[in-house]
Amino acid sequence: MANDTTGRVRERSFRESVDLMFNRAVAVMDLSPGLEEKIRVCNATYIVRFGVRMRGRIQTFTGYRSVHSEHMEPVKGGIRYALSVNQDEVEALAALMTYKCALVEAPFGGSKGGLCIDPREYDEHEMELVTRRFAYELAKRDLIHPSQNVPAPDMGTGEREMAWIADQYHRMNTTDINAMACVTGKPIHAGGIHGRVEATGRGVQYALQEFFRHPEDCAVAGLDGGLEGKRIVVQGLGNVGYHAAKFLSEEDGAKVTAIVERDGAIIDDNGIDVEALHNWIVSHGGVKGYAEGSYVSDGARVLEKECDILIPAAMEGVINRENSARINTRLIIEAANGPVTAGADEILRGRGVVLIPDLYANAGGVTVSYFEWVKNLSHIRFGRMQRRQEEARHRLVVNELERLDRYLGDSWSMTPTFKERYLRGADELELVRSGLDDTMRIAYQAMREVWHSREDVPDLRMAAYIVAIQRVALSYREKGL
Ligand code: GLU
Repeated sequence: MANDTTGRVRERSFRESVDLMFNRAVAVMDLSPGLEEKIRVCNATYIVRFGVRMRGRIQTFTGYRSVHSEHMEPVKGGIRYALSVNQDEVEALAALMTYKCALVEAPFGGSKGGLCIDPREYDEHEMELVTRRFAYELAKRDLIHPSQNVPAPDMGTGEREMAWIADQYHRMNTTDINAMACVTGKPIHAGGIHGRVEATGRGVQYALQEFFRHPEDCAVAGLDGGLEGKRIVVQGLGNVGYHAAKFLSEEDGAKVTAIVERDGAIIDDNGIDVEALHNWIVSHGGVKGYAEGSYVSDGARVLEKECDILIPAAMEGVINRENSARINTRLIIEAANGPVTAGADEILRGRGVVLIPDLYANAGGVTVSYFEWVKNLSHIRFGRMQRRQEEARHRLVVNELERLDRYLGDSWSMTPTFKERYLRGADELELVRSGLDDTMRIAYQAMREVWHSREDVPDLRMAAYIVAIQRVALSYREKGL
């Protein structure tokens, strides 16, 4: 237990938190000596300081790309733009990428990048200059490369930045036929895939749907039934929080009773219209002034509001030693990376709160990134070969049913929408969602199998780490390490 100078228990840094969670898992595993250390440590962190001439002077920026594990290549992980980016954070996030990819069987090692910048301070042209220069610095060291290191969006970055990075890489590697696969999360017209933007939020929805398919697991959290009517508090209405909240309320009948944002929170026990509030935030820069529900300026307190499911979907460390005893929920699903510190994790476990861990809960992003990367390497969109053939085969069935319909007269008829729905072959978006749903179900089942079959594994996080570490260890062993 680490103490600060006043004798209080010190909050661990993000990287220390991830290491502690890793240590809890390996303590009950049987890894060969030295392998544990090899897996835990971050292989390399590259720090670059570069200058960009703008506004009449040269401005210097600091960027990072950390490679945690190369047991599989390419290594994968987003690039974050925030003033708070630092080495500890990037290394923790890179480690989480290793475990995340292993857990959802995305064939990648773990990596992460970051740039110390407040994107709101710069216009689009300036952001492009900075992004291209950062991409140049990384690409010339193979830290952006289709077969070695493939970045993606993270906090503060999105499709726009990924398109610049892809183009920059392409300019530097004009004859590389796989140049498009050097980065994922690109816009659809620049080599992207349908469903990538929504992917992490969609993954959170699929994760919860799978959790609620197991009544015994719900019972551990003191919950029953399905998602219908469950009260949800969401922290952060960025890309991940927005999509998760939207799908859970619009498609699963859950009630989003509070949304916490930078400038305060909106509470509405009848359920917030997520789309309307999101539109308000986009045009007003915050939740303040939104007409429906009630506004509370102290967002941190709203995080402690009673609910069935709490979804922290923004920054790391928001649930910590200070507030974890007051968190009033039964189930936390970590849509962000590292929102619960190791200290808070311990306190919450002690209180019987069930946690669906980040390395599983937010793996939807990298899963669909994997599909995008495969699409880029195969140079063909998913479904292009099969779709019409599938439709033709379905047409045969429908023709027979129509014959039966005529024969049976009034006593039986086809459901009106059946024909149209059944005939339509799956497009890329449907295939992506199906692949993501399958991935989230299978990964959950692997975790719960360990959780329920071992007495020494009391929670899902420990189970998730065990599944992931076992897979990484296996791949090292197969390499002869
Ligand atoms: N930044 C996202 C994450 O933390 C996505 C990574 C990726 O798609 O490679 O998982």
